Parts: sequence; structure tokens; C-alpha cells
Amino acid sequence: MLALETLWEPQEPWREDAACRNLDVAVFFPTDESEDATLEAKAICDTCPVADSCLQYALSTNQPEGVWGGLDSNERRRLRRRIRDQARRKAS
Ligand code: SF4
Repeated sequence: MLALETLWEPQEPWREDAACRNLDVAVFFPTDESEDATLEAKAICDTCPVADSCLQYALSTNQPEGVWGGLDSNERRRLRRRIRDQARRKAS
């Protein structure tokens, strides 16, 4: 089993409190990211005290795969698009 914390940058302080810290990385990186395949990870993220920091990290480092902060890669892509669109609207 590969623990999820091995994927994180060591200087990320929020990881100390992560609900998934010692769990199997495979739970958060299923081979397909269908709704069913990501349910277990998202349920763990729902209980995580550092989910906001985790999601922020995933967005700022453009994590292409897996569940981070309770969102899978498609959900993060949609969120990034919404953030980008809002920024464009504010700028115009
Ligand atoms: S939000 Fe989910 S993936 Fe992120 S640290 Fe918490 S349990 Fe892990």
C-alpha cells in the first residue's frame, strides 16, 4: 500500500491533519473516475478538517488526477473554469 501523504510536498502543513494521511492512495486515485469509483474517497474527504487547504493545493498545483478536497478531476476542471470566467467578468 502506498500512503497518500507520499504524494504531498513536505512543506504543506495541512497534511498533518488530513483524514487520508495513512490511507491507501488507490482509494483517491481510482483507475476510472466514475461517480461510483470516487464515492469512498469523497466520503472520507467529507470528514476531513483540511479539505479546503487540500482543494486549494490541488487547484494551485494543477493536479490532473484523483480526488482532492472532495472533488474529482472533472469537478476541479469545472471549478477552475468557473473561477477563470468570474475573473474575466470582473476584469471586463
Ligand atoms: S480533503 Fe480528502 S484528499 Fe484532501 S487531505 Fe482531506 S481526506 Fe485527503
